[in-house]
Amino acid sequence: MTSRALTAVGVALLLLLAGCGDAGQPGSAGQPAPIFSRPAEPAEPAESSTPAPKPTAEPSAPRTSPRPKPKPGTLPPGLRRTTGTRGVALTFDDGPDPVWTPKVLDQLRRARVTATFCVVGSRVKRHPELMARIVREGHQLCNHSWRHDVDLGSRPAPEIRADLDRTNRAIKAVVPGARISYYRQPGGKWTPAVVAVAKDLGMTSLHWTVDPQDWAKPPAKKIVERVRAGIRPGGVVLLHDGGGDRAATLAACPQVIAEIKRRYGVAKLN
Ligand SMILES: [Zn+2]
Repeated sequence: MTSRALTAVGVALLLLLAGCGDAGQPGSAGQPAPIFSRPAEPAEPAESSTPAPKPTAEPSAPRTSPRPKPKPGTLPPGLRRTTGTRGVALTFDDGPDPVWTPKVLDQLRRARVTATFCVVGSRVKRHPELMARIVREGHQLCNHSWRHDVDLGSRPAPEIRADLDRTNRAIKAVVPGARISYYRQPGGKWTPAVVAVAKDLGMTSLHWTVDPQDWAKPPAKKIVERVRAGIRPGGVVLLHDGGGDRAATLAACPQVIAEIKRRYGVAKLN
């Protein structure tokens, strides 16, 4: 093969690897906001005490047609995407997970920083001890729907409300008195309806500015690079502590945290 052909194959492979993820470029702070960003995850991923419950529903993009870029301006109004300060916020989605959440919490504690955890209601119920620890260690809570329903925003408003409310009740049952300040739509598939319901339930809809696509399990080095390239003052970084094998995320955490600390500081969302 010519080197040109090799390059083409390389690019195709990259597109294939990136194909199932968020619609924005990795680490794309300040670019058109990605939406429809993640494939549906299994509603109830099998849990075990060993790592690597693999998501089963990560469709591969066809080689020949890389996924379309989102149209600019397709996110509904009312989303929060920045910290409002110079500091950059860390957010962890799809937990609590008995394998990965404690390890992420250990890292945050070691670095003396806090994050926002966007938790899935059905998992909250199964891991009250992790929820208690998240709150005890000063992190913030974000509702991430009951079963990680990426299409929730398109359902009738009463259904959306029931889902968000059920999740909030599950959280409050295990960590009474904890504030649930945010809602984050699974897959970033926001609709005006879901934003409105979240607001009505007292939650701000929280999006992000940097998506290193850690859920697609790139090497830790890649995750660090993408965060490094994408962070700007006031940014919000999307990471995952659940929904699959998070070893790469975990391995990237020390450098990701150090990088944010050094450049802007780690901000707590308020
Ligand atoms: Zn999620």
